[in-house]
Amino acid sequence: MSTTTAATPTQCSTHSRAVQRDIEPGSIVECILCGERIKFQAKIRPKQVICNVYKGTNWDRVEHFHAPCYAQAGEPHGPADTTPVVKTRRVAAKNNPEMQKA
Ligand SMILES: [Zn+2]
Repeated sequence: MSTTTAATPTQCSTHSRAVQRDIEPGSIVECILCGERIKFQAKIRPKQVICNVYKGTNWDRVEHFHAPCYAQAGEPHGPADTTPVVKTRRVAAKNNPEMQKA
């Protein structure tokens, strides 16, 4: 018999999801909504939304949006996860001037 009792997935990781990220310098991807290049701009520090799109349980593709375009599209893959990526570079203190105020 091939009956398995532990087949109930408790963690569903095979569904479309979206994350919000900083745009990296040298980015060459295009927003699938407006078709414009998702460009790094040092002054503005724009955000992008990266979506892992699944068809059923199979990963299908990655879609990139400008963050405003993703909102404009109606968040087709759910709300973007804005949890920042923990970087191992020593930027934490620099990027948190608030924390340095005594
Ligand atoms: Zn766009």
